Amino acid sequence: MDSLEHLNPQQRAAVTASAGPVLVLAGPGSGKTRVLTFRIGYLLSQLGVAPHHILAVTFTNKAAREMQSRVEKLLGHSLQGMWLGTFHAICARILRREQQYLPLDANFVIFDEDDQQALIKRALRDLNLDEKLYRPTSVHAAISNAKNNLILPEDYPTATYRDEVVARVYKRYQELLVSSNAVDFDDLLLYAWKLLNEFSTVREQYARRFEHILVDEFQDTNLAQYELVKLLASYHRNLFVVGDEDQSIYRWRGADYRNVLRFEEDFPDRQKILLEQNYRSTQRVLDAAQAVINRNRNRTPKRLKSTPEHGEGEKLVLYEAVDDYGEAAFVVDTIQQLVAGGKARPGDFAIMYRTNAQSRLLEEAFLRAGVPYRLVGAMRFYGRREVKDMIAYLRLVQNPADEASLGRVINVPPRGIGDKSQLALQMEAQRTGRSAGLILMELGREGKDSPHWQALGRNASLLADFGSLLGEWHRLKDEISLPSLFQRILNDLAYREYIDDNTEEGQSRWENVQELLRIAYEYEEKGLTAFLENLALVSDQDTLPENVEAPTLLTLHAAKGLEFPIVFITGLDDGLIPHNRSLDDPEAMAEERRLFYVGLTRAKKRVYLVRAAQRSTYGSFQDSIPSRFLKDIPADLIQQDGRGRRMGRSWQSESRRSWDDNYAGTWGSRPERAKPSHAPILQPRFKPGMRVKHPSWGEGLVVDSRIQDEDETVDIFFDSVGFKRVIASIANLEIL
Ligand code: ATP
Ligand code: MG
Repeated sequence: MDSLEHLNPQQRAAVTASAGPVLVLAGPGSGKTRVLTFRIGYLLSQLGVAPHHILAVTFTNKAAREMQSRVEKLLGHSLQGMWLGTFHAICARILRREQQYLPLDANFVIFDEDDQQALIKRALRDLNLDEKLYRPTSVHAAISNAKNNLILPEDYPTATYRDEVVARVYKRYQELLVSSNAVDFDDLLLYAWKLLNEFSTVREQYARRFEHILVDEFQDTNLAQYELVKLLASYHRNLFVVGDEDQSIYRWRGADYRNVLRFEEDFPDRQKILLEQNYRSTQRVLDAAQAVINRNRNRTPKRLKSTPEHGEGEKLVLYEAVDDYGEAAFVVDTIQQLVAGGKARPGDFAIMYRTNAQSRLLEEAFLRAGVPYRLVGAMRFYGRREVKDMIAYLRLVQNPADEASLGRVINVPPRGIGDKSQLALQMEAQRTGRSAGLILMELGREGKDSPHWQALGRNASLLADFGSLLGEWHRLKDEISLPSLFQRILNDLAYREYIDDNTEEGQSRWENVQELLRIAYEYEEKGLTAFLENLALVSDQDTLPENVEAPTLLTLHAAKGLEFPIVFITGLDDGLIPHNRSLDDPEAMAEERRLFYVGLTRAKKRVYLVRAAQRSTYGSFQDSIPSRFLKDIPADLIQQDGRGRRMGRSWQSESRRSWDDNYAGTWGSRPERAKPSHAPILQPRFKPGMRVKHPSWGEGLVVDSRIQDEDETVDIFFDSVGFKRVIASIANLEIL
């Protein structure tokens, strides 16, 4: 394969490694994903391995698609029969094929987050447990964690009373899932593992089939995924994994980078290959990233070396805005300037943040400036009410036992089936041990002849009307194409009349439905099951519109594996990154640091580090202090953007002062405050003669105070350091 020339010697060693377990450990941008892709090409073209003997696991569906097209390009022909996808997608595929071993019908559905929450609530109710005492999200997290660690309800440890409660909810939740003919995301892994673990014939069938198994982003696998891979590789033992412990950022989803250690223990004969050359970033970006990650303990130190073509590169730009509106404005301004000056293209930019909520102000700034952008995040489209309604209808048609979907749409659009009727239906379902959906369909079919008619009394006729619709669609689903079925449901419901009231909002709702219909057309051949499965498994990165040349907004988590010429990391404030939640947990703090590291190492050419001195929360502004990670970047790698506030002296000098030392006292140019802002301060709060206390300079005497630039400036004579001038809103002064 000629393309092996495009690899360095270590990469080539990895691509052509002989049979057996292989572990490739290497820093960001060192070509791990590229090596994995080339290895697939090598196995196929050089070793003559048939595509259906290969299984490759990626972290997102998007990454799978990209890998597929790269391999096809390398080989010059299309790939058929190879298994390539995320763990969840691969497990779903195994479960559909082996459905006879499961407690589910072939058309089981995959519940999304909302459905899972709803079901947890239902389980709590069934057990007479108070939602306020046992918060559904936290109970669900505990259950999810158990599943990711392969702990079944009966094995759930019950050391405390709370554990005991979780174990009961877990058990009930599983029963409800099974009776809904549904699985949650974690079940996909758990069931697949159980299947392979318990049934040796099934295990052997897959283990023999997959002669080669390759896993990207191995550091973010959880225990269930690791054990599953081990079972799948149990026959041929050709397991090729690539990863970087420093980029493990999904601990909250059960990921466990100790799987790297487990791998080394479980496969003592593994070949281990390290890659050292970074092909993505300039040396300055790498030096900054390295300075940040070096402060994590218990890691293998790695050196990140750039290529001569990338060279030294530019310094990282630091910008401190007055507030978070100013932060967003800076991002948009900078992009507009660079694009207008021909220095960059709109698609070169990524804007990253720690929490999804931070995207709102950024989006508004883009909208106001009329600059198109792409937002990574499933919420925007798939979280919309109208989209969820239609998906629920389709799921119900596919699987009438799906309680969650039925609950969502039974009275949408309103058809007079109120709470009382729904309760009656639920009770009838419980009494007869049948699912509510099946009862509805029977009512629709048999009317008064159905034994349920009597039992449901006054409610029966409305329920029967809906049941006959449902039954009709259910019958049609195997006769007409998916888009026709979709159209038919829309017509029968008069759904457009329901959601589109001719306002702008209404029109946009209808457009969303049309967009979903468009996606359904893509599944005309594959059909309803494949369509629903794909919808259930979309991850954040997968929602990124392709072929659109625009800046990308995304969380640091979603940035994994990607690269962009110019990266903004916004919200570099303590409490955001590192996040408040993590401050008192050393493991969580180490992960916050890795997250920042992942963000930095996405950049090819330039990084903007952006923060705001004040942030708006619940309508008021709060002072914020710079992220503690910023001070780990050596000052000589950073330059401040002249448009921002001046952030202390340490960036100019080599000295490593603490932030408090150099922060409050500085007094440079103040940019115009971006609109809208908090109410201007009119009255000085500090008066001459007051005693005050500063966090690092200690006590002092107020000499003078005045309002300037809508903020209060205070002159203080400190007992320790003498005269200083500070800005009240950021100096954190305490009146004594
Ligand atoms: P991450 O840890 O962030 O996932 P990675 O190790 O998977 O990074 P890749 O994404 O595979 O790295 O590669 C980073 C960039 O370097 C890509 O643009 C890739 O095409 C390029 N690259 C990798 N190896 C080479 C090479 N030998 N010659 C030229 N470019 C390369
Ligand atoms: Mg990669």
